[in-house]
Amino acid sequence: MISMAKPLMGEEEKQAVWEVLESGVIAQGPRVKAFEEAFAAMCETRFAIATSSGTTALHVALLAHRIGPGDEVITSPFTFIASANSVVYVGARPVFVDIDPRTFNIDVRQIEAAITPRTKAILPVHLFGLSCDMETIMEIASKYNLAVIEDACQSHGATFKGYKVGSFGTGTFSLYPTKNITSAEGGMITTNEPAIDEACRVIRNHGMRVRYYHDELGYNFRMTDVHAAIGLAQIGKLDRFNAKRRQNAAFYDQNLKGVITPFVPEGYEHVYHQYTVRVPDGKRDALRDYLKSKDIGSEVYYPVPIYRQKLYVNELGYNMQLPETERAAAEVLSLPIHPALTQQDLEAVVSAVNTFMGV
Ligand SMILES: *Cc1c(COP(=O)(O)O)cnc(C)c1O
Repeated sequence: MISMAKPLMGEEEKQAVWEVLESGVIAQGPRVKAFEEAFAAMCETRFAIATSSGTTALHVALLAHRIGPGDEVITSPFTFIASANSVVYVGARPVFVDIDPRTFNIDVRQIEAAITPRTKAILPVHLFGLSCDMETIMEIASKYNLAVIEDACQSHGATFKGYKVGSFGTGTFSLYPTKNITSAEGGMITTNEPAIDEACRVIRNHGMRVRYYHDELGYNFRMTDVHAAIGLAQIGKLDRFNAKRRQNAAFYDQNLKGVITPFVPEGYEHVYHQYTVRVPDGKRDALRDYLKSKDIGSEVYYPVPIYRQKLYVNELGYNMQLPETERAAAEVLSLPIHPALTQQDLEAVVSAVNTFMGV
């Protein structure tokens, strides 16, 4: 079976975990601090704050920006549920804007029309490893005085015009095992603003600045030193992992026929968390079945736009359809791209896709 994801855990990770267990400091401690510093250096931001997951990173970031009931947050409906659910957690309302069909990311030309007096933030999702158009998003945010919370959970190390994702607004990252790097479970928030850094640290730890004095409602969204030790070992490998993902993608770009391969605009560096093609002529599900018969994994990210999830329709009253989001949900298929794939694996994928598509 050629799988969709394979976390690469080496001797370094095992040794690092062992050392933490031996040290006796297991909860949030010196490794979390070191991992935060390494992550901030990778993102070229002043601060990074570790959390228990990408979802809690998003939740804390929204709280740190004081987004809550009555507020609206503009985001994409074509993403993992956590991007929008985090907005629901804080009592605000996600406002969905259609995607650019070439990049699968929010169509920046449609953002201004979605702004109302209640809009407090834009939450762009850098989907599949490709940055959103951050120049336009930052311009709109500054014009309307909106916060920008980047969901970079799939884009560790991706760049837009030379700048890392997560360094434009407040960045949020996931360290789940299928992501470009992992800490088993974990998340990270990045920012250049001291006030946001401090707010995130307080909210992450029970609203506590001084021990057992609680100034506001906070949570236990901390990372452990065990997880941070794995993350520290992984972050040193991020460039190598991403380079291999790009190399795999280049092979697919050159050799796949009959499907529409990913578009990378000038000035963007894609890190291919997923390699997502469009399959024309309604053949997507049949291609997926065919690949499965050849022992090749593939996945549909994402089959249901968020505004059509039952939670959003039945509980939150959404009743909408956005044409490019609907079309993408029907046509996309992600192929194995992870760094552990061999040349033989890549050739098997190409040969199966091309055979099925009849070219
Ligand atoms: C993985 C992911 C998340 C959530 O991260 P977890 O660590 O699984 O909580 C949020 N947004 C996107 C786009 C993701 O891919």
